[in-house]
Amino acid sequence: MFGGTFNPIHVGHLRVAEEALRQFELREVVFVPTGHPPHRPVADGVPAEDRYTMVRLATADYPQFSVSRFEVDRPGPCYTVDTVAAMKEIYPHGVAFIVGADIFARIHTWRDWPRLLRSCPFIVAPRPATDIGSFSRPPFDQAEVHLLQMPPIPVSSSEVRRRYRSGLSTTGMVPPAVDRWIRDHRLYGVAPSGAGG
Ligand code: ATP
Repeated sequence: MFGGTFNPIHVGHLRVAEEALRQFELREVVFVPTGHPPHRPVADGVPAEDRYTMVRLATADYPQFSVSRFEVDRPGPCYTVDTVAAMKEIYPHGVAFIVGADIFARIHTWRDWPRLLRSCPFIVAPRPATDIGSFSRPPFDQAEVHLLQMPPIPVSSSEVRRRYRSGLSTTGMVPPAVDRWIRDHRLYGVAPSGAGG
């Protein structure tokens, strides 16, 4: 499973999912967009349903990618430890959690993190300016950690949002179908009628 706010989904997410599939011979990657993240409000107040739709659009051409409504359909805040437990029921052959190194480094701030660390293997993607050396030391030594072998991809949702807002190009950062949807729905303060690119 690959949890995230996906506000919006970008090519970094897709490359990480593709590499995880290939390097660990996964059956599938299930994207799990957050509903109401416990730690911070969603930037620009983009509803879960919109973020879910963008993930659907981005993954439509990938037979081994699917998108879960599990967190989107839950009314209150969702905690990853609970989502992982639910996913293990749905996918009894096993679940691994795909996560970027920036987020994994802060996992000790999450609800019930010692249980979360022991609950499934983690596939950790490099991110620019994030040290992965600490993942072999406590508390991460309680977890089964697998590092994705790939260069860090310098794309983030916050940079994508900033570029839409500033009218800068997002070409190559966002899948074309998602870009169209963002412009059609005027998300992230994007200017009307094809400005930017
Ligand atoms: P933001 O810039 O708003 O913080 P983000 O780009 O990190 O967003 P999220 O939806 O919060 O996107 O991320 C979902 C997961 O994908 C997280 O585990 C995050 O670390 C990971 N991730 C996001 N972008 C990348 C990237 N370029 N390379 C590797 N992992 C990434």
